[in-house]
Amino acid sequence: TNPDVTIIGLGLMGRALAGALLKAGHQVTVWNRTAAKAEELLAQGALLADSANSAVTASPVTITCVADYPSLQQAFAPVSDELDGRLLVNLTSGDSAQARDMARWTEQRGAHYLDGAIMAVPPTIGTADAVILLSGSKTAFDSQRSVLDALGTATHLGADHGLSALYDVAGLSMMWGVLNAWLQGVALLATAGIDASTYTPFAVQMAQGTAGWLEGYADQVDSGTYPPDDATLATHAGGMAHLVEESERLGVNAELPRLFKSLVDRAITAGQAGKSYPALVEQFNQESRTS
Ligand code: NDP
Repeated sequence: TNPDVTIIGLGLMGRALAGALLKAGHQVTVWNRTAAKAEELLAQGALLADSANSAVTASPVTITCVADYPSLQQAFAPVSDELDGRLLVNLTSGDSAQARDMARWTEQRGAHYLDGAIMAVPPTIGTADAVILLSGSKTAFDSQRSVLDALGTATHLGADHGLSALYDVAGLSMMWGVLNAWLQGVALLATAGIDASTYTPFAVQMAQGTAGWLEGYADQVDSGTYPPDDATLATHAGGMAHLVEESERLGVNAELPRLFKSLVDRAITAGQAGKSYPALVEQFNQESRTS
């Protein structure tokens, strides 16, 4: 079965989504604020709606992918009853509160809602490499499997509509954590005339080795017990002092190492010196409680 699909938003990503659905044999109706961006898709068989309202009514499922939530609200300002009984899959990037608000707004209009985050660039859409995270009703997710599978590897995270946005930013935090740590090492080794390509195989080995600890550490976080089976926070603090001092002595940016050290120092002050590294999670939870 190839249900009809509407795509609202024909930027780089929206055009890739529409193209993948056309290729998979769906009848695709499109709408974009700037209609000219639909031309190539119309040549491939897409239908152009003359308003967001008529776009929504053209299909049982509408996928939205515009710049951000304020843009989505503008695009949907004239849309209301048209959503009744339909499914909205919103792949616009945003935060978890925006996703939950949109879920409420949509459900007040009698529609089902899935919120999604695309962890991929437009050229990979339509291949298994395009990871698409979705949250909201599992029934709605299962009912649109053929549509979602045509876009990439679709994963359902849970019923809370905020989950896809939270996984999205958590994934970005992992990405920038690894990239910044790598750049710190690149800068340190450069002071000894070692280029990035020479240093990087060692960096990859360290990143992969460290990633291998995470599942065991997750069990510690979930149980709230931090037996120092490998190293204590006090031992980590000693190593961090070397990283800070070496960076400062060599004239390499030491902001990140100082941040690592200040987090561990605070945990030690709070009495955690003898615990394993993930006891530091309390320093992260504290920040979220104050915001
Ligand atoms: P583009 O800048 O290419 O497209 C933006 C889209 O938003 C256009 O269709 C634009 O319409 C529309 N838009 C902007 N403002 C309004 C408005 N006020 N009313 C109606 N429509 C509006 O962005 P992308 O397609 O690359 O990104 C779209 C979403 O996908 C973003 O949330 C982005 O974070 C997410 N994403 C993108 C990735 C990428 O690699 N490109 C990767 C992962 C997620 P118009 O053509 O009229 O300007």
